[in-house]
Amino acid sequence: MSQRKDRREFISVSVDFPNHPKLMQLEEDVIPLAGWLAVCAWIYCGQNLTDGEFAPLAVRRIAGVDKQIEKHLLSVGLWHAHGHGCPKCPQPGERMYVSHDYLEHQRAKADAEALREKRRRAGAAGAASRWSRATSGLAEPPPSDGMGDPKQMAFAMAGATDGAWQTDGKDMPKEEEDKKKTKSSSRRRSPERPLPESWKPIARHKAVAASLGLDVDREARQFRLHAEAKDRRQRDWHKAFDLWLEKSLDWGGAAIPSQRQSTDPADPDVVLGRDNWQLPAPPDGVQAGTRAYTEWAKKTSADHFAERRRRAAEVLAERKSA
Ligand SMILES: [Zn+2]
Repeated sequence: MSQRKDRREFISVSVDFPNHPKLMQLEEDVIPLAGWLAVCAWIYCGQNLTDGEFAPLAVRRIAGVDKQIEKHLLSVGLWHAHGHGCPKCPQPGERMYVSHDYLEHQRAKADAEALREKRRRAGAAGAASRWSRATSGLAEPPPSDGMGDPKQMAFAMAGATDGAWQTDGKDMPKEEEDKKKTKSSSRRRSPERPLPESWKPIARHKAVAASLGLDVDREARQFRLHAEAKDRRQRDWHKAFDLWLEKSLDWGGAAIPSQRQSTDPADPDVVLGRDNWQLPAPPDGVQAGTRAYTEWAKKTSADHFAERRRRAAEVLAERKSA
């Protein structure tokens, strides 16, 4: 069978099942419902990975047929009750049934789990490769756990925003387009050029800036001023801004007023410096690159930087009164 894109569980039903010799033994008027009930047993077992064993009530409820039909399937041997004598089929638990020859045609639990694991690994590999594309050109890869460094967290957030699984960001189509352009242009080794008039920060920049407590518009203005004053030429201006944001963060810790040209004496970076500067680590089970992580990081960084502003105000008030 060709590789299926759809990741739901499927069952196999042979094309001649409606004319199955065992069904044909039944009265004509019960055949459609009996056939449907048999299919529903496969569906139930496939969904719950039971290797063919099921509680008859559960299957009857899915099929919406009455108990009478169940007896027909037992009578022709499409189903077996506990204590059956079919040499090909396993013995179900008490009051449980088993679908005859289930594993001949349907996926066994072990195989389904192996497939899920394989897909999970393939998915993780895909995420890692998207991740490295999102962060390529940056100093270091983000760690998979203990995200204590806000810089790395920010790039993790950018990765989550870039990821193919994240489709609810309004900026995604534009950014995907930008990424494609960037990709194809880097393959052609596009020439270095001045910052285009139309250049603007994209979604990953906004995510990075937000999580670092940087004002993305202010950073973009300074970035442009700097680029124009120095007549900078770049192949990839989006990547250049990634690096700019990364540097901004370092400046924020070291020589804030001179290097970041912060003219606001109440700026928490000016008042507090690196004091309580790092974001807390994410809680257990919240993994970088997931939607849950992005939600957590947005909320946590907003709280964190609000708290820094509040503390900076406190410190300023103390200085004034002293
Ligand atoms: Zn059997």
